[in-house]
Amino acid sequence: AVPVALVSGLSRAAAIGVLVKGGGALETLAKVRVLVVDKTGTLTHGTARLASARAFAPFGEPEALRLAASLDQASGHPIARALVEEARRRGLALSQPTKVIEHPGEGVSGWVERRHVLVGGPRLMRMHDVRFPPADGAGHAGATTATVLVAVDGMPAAVLELADPLRTDGGRALSALRACGIERVVLATGDRRAVAEALVAGLPVDAVAADLDPAAKTGAVAAERRNGPVMMVGDGVNDAPALASADLGVALGARGAAAAAEAADVVLLVDSLAPLPEAVRIARRARAIAL
Ligand code: ADP
Ligand code: MG
Repeated sequence: AVPVALVSGLSRAAAIGVLVKGGGALETLAKVRVLVVDKTGTLTHGTARLASARAFAPFGEPEALRLAASLDQASGHPIARALVEEARRRGLALSQPTKVIEHPGEGVSGWVERRHVLVGGPRLMRMHDVRFPPADGAGHAGATTATVLVAVDGMPAAVLELADPLRTDGGRALSALRACGIERVVLATGDRRAVAEALVAGLPVDAVAADLDPAAKTGAVAAERRNGPVMMVGDGVNDAPALASADLGVALGARGAAAAAEAADVVLLVDSLAPLPEAVRIARRARAIAL
């Protein structure tokens, strides 16, 4: 039987919007020492705005955005939602995509109006042998927190820079977690290193692992386990394997992917990292009483 102290810990956690899937998960929550945190949609809001775009002839910016957003209607990724919203704001007429393939952590491919469209990161473009001209300078380094490449019929069509700001409570949550016994914080992202490092400058983050596909994210979690029990926090389909492999997987449930919530041991029911430090304290108290 689950000790009474654990049961009451579970209900205290639930009351602050943290769903802990059982007494075992609550005990692990009390023991975690390392935090591996995802970037897009977890440390950032994932409600990105298009900050700048560079289109390549013969495509203009509106056409590249229209094709990308048409395809991204089929994706639940935060970047996809942002592109669709931006296209709607601009009054662009979107078409239904067909034969859509979602590549978790890489992007999306499919057909829009008889054109083959790719929307995603550099790995997706390499997979399809699309070569982009080298980037001219750092772009909008500070504000830019995601870069999305668009290719049409095997040709580069646009580079979209999205500003996806840090959650207002993101830095505070990391500091509060450190104050309650998390000794090491690692950012693990599918995005590029420059973008990830710019985002966490000034935050209590010890290491950045970038350019990770879902398998590499799982590898990053495995590597951190030598530093202590690992809690992984993420929101996306691409985080699900890493969440399952961590000592404790924590999913952002409010806007995150269902696959992440299923793979996790803990689901944050609010769209915020803020209750996590308090949940750790609740778990520690419950464990101290139960022992
Ligand atoms: P993180 O690991 O930080 O949450 P992801 O792995 O989800 O980030 O995404 C990494 C990169 O993959 C994004 O910056 C973007 O370039 C690309 N990407 C992934 N999915 C999509 C999508 N549906 N639409 C556009 N770009 C995508
Ligand atoms: Mg994410």
